[in-house]
Amino acid sequence: MDKPTNKNFITNIIDNDNNTNKFSGRVHTRFPPEPNGYLHIGHAKSICLNFEIANLYNGVCNLRFDDTNPEKENIEYIEAIKKDIEWLGYEWNSMHYSSDYFEKIYKYALSLIENNFAYVDSSSPEVIKKERGTLTEPGTNSKDRDRTIEENIKLFNEMKEGNFSDGEYVLRLKINMLSPNINMRDPVIYRIKKFEHHRTGNDWCIYPMYDFTHCISDAIENITHSLCTLEFEDHRDLYDWIIEKINHENKPQQIEFSRLALEHNMMSKRKLSELVEKKYVSGWDDPRMPTISGMRRRGFTSSSIKDFCSRIGITKKNSSIEMGVLENTIREELNLSAKRVMGVLDPLKIIITNYPDNEKEEILAANNPNDKDSGQRNISISKNIYIDRDDFMEFPEKKYFRLSPGKEVRLRHAFNIVCDKVIKDNDGKIIELECSFDPVSRDMKKGNKVKGMIHWVDANNCTDAIINIYDRLFKEPNPSDLESFNEKSLVIKKDAKLEKNIAINNYSARYQFERVGYFIRDNKTSNETIIYNKIVSLKDSWKKINK
Ligand code: ATP
Ligand code: MG
Repeated sequence: MDKPTNKNFITNIIDNDNNTNKFSGRVHTRFPPEPNGYLHIGHAKSICLNFEIANLYNGVCNLRFDDTNPEKENIEYIEAIKKDIEWLGYEWNSMHYSSDYFEKIYKYALSLIENNFAYVDSSSPEVIKKERGTLTEPGTNSKDRDRTIEENIKLFNEMKEGNFSDGEYVLRLKINMLSPNINMRDPVIYRIKKFEHHRTGNDWCIYPMYDFTHCISDAIENITHSLCTLEFEDHRDLYDWIIEKINHENKPQQIEFSRLALEHNMMSKRKLSELVEKKYVSGWDDPRMPTISGMRRRGFTSSSIKDFCSRIGITKKNSSIEMGVLENTIREELNLSAKRVMGVLDPLKIIITNYPDNEKEEILAANNPNDKDSGQRNISISKNIYIDRDDFMEFPEKKYFRLSPGKEVRLRHAFNIVCDKVIKDNDGKIIELECSFDPVSRDMKKGNKVKGMIHWVDANNCTDAIINIYDRLFKEPNPSDLESFNEKSLVIKKDAKLEKNIAINNYSARYQFERVGYFIRDNKTSNETIIYNKIVSLKDSWKKINK
């Protein structure tokens, strides 16, 4: 939706509405989260859609907290949701709470009772459920369906006054128990819940249900196009029924689109909150989480998330998107924007035996070869350097072109070295390599042609860091429960060594560690310990590994 040219079936509907002057050319959308958790990337899809549609038609988009379930909602979530939307770069026209409308919604319910469109039922939830029938069997009327209007008004008022306990009575619409659409079989619209609400306190002990609240809130706010996900398709008849019966002058139109599902993730606040509560992850903003706050901490930019939402498009077909699609958007962006440095995650020390003691040299290297204006950096090299353990093999396999005994490789940006000696401790673990370098190869054209090029850092001039390496949150592409949690989704490298050019106090700077991947400083770390999060690898290696 980034570009105005991004047309989809919803813009087609709006174009048509504008041609027929259905809403006098107005476009007014809303994003209606329930404040019962942090937003995830699925919500980002809905946010982008609602705000971009409004922008496209010079309309506006509201933010509305759908706070009708006081038990699960709280202010922490409200603040987090606002922060995430702002971070994505969207400005709501006005902010509302469904709870602002409790009085109005109550009055609408009362008027429906007065018009014999609603009744108070004392049946138990089990009986109500049973009497509503199934997809293949019709429903049956409740024993209370024919209560008189007077009695219904009296009971509903007593419900409101707190004269009954939770579950003793509910208010139901009187529609049609034989309807092929189960949602139309006298749905419950009010329940008793003696629970303090985070905004209305103890003013209410009856709370309206989602289906009743949502359409009325849309009407009150003059929403034109109420965009929601496909599971509400079967609720649209009910939406329209209520809008018609309350006789509000504004008649919003519900349009459904497909939910985003992302492989190796779960798109449900309830499931994500379980991960947090059971401490599988460190919090809602754990960088492995598909939450907007987690992705922000992981190093995703808001532009990459919006780009992703634009790429997946808006359709009516449910499908599951590969993680690679999401990762590509940030990878492509960072390839153009991130500064390069070298970083060694699993250090192995090298002594360059023929390099003069107590000397060093400075090498100039591009900050970003894809960006001519990014300038150059100075990298130092001296007698002692670190390379990654991965880049050395004592007994190399065929086609292993990196360092091994007797083999010559190039140190990126510097010169060629040959490994002369492997030094081990008493347990046989390699602790050091002795290498020699070829001064002539400082000029790449003059040195021997070698197949392998490895990265390194100057041991005498580097920064210690802890690096968090993240992987898929769940092992299976479409996990159904927490059993599938990937225990290896976080690997911590405790003694990484980074090139000195890395900015110590800049939390938002993203770097490419050459040959390794993209990284950002973790925003929760102190000044003493420098912690970096891996954003994404340089290439999509997951597929290969799995094969
Ligand atoms: P969850 O199960 O994660 O809580 P929800 O639909 O109950 O999801 P809401 O807070 O009610 O969450 O959602 C706010 C808006 O975001 C709704 O309009 C909803 O349709 C939309 N939304 C939620 N999940 C997705 C998703 N995976 N893809 C696209 N839109 C979504
Ligand atoms: Mg919900």
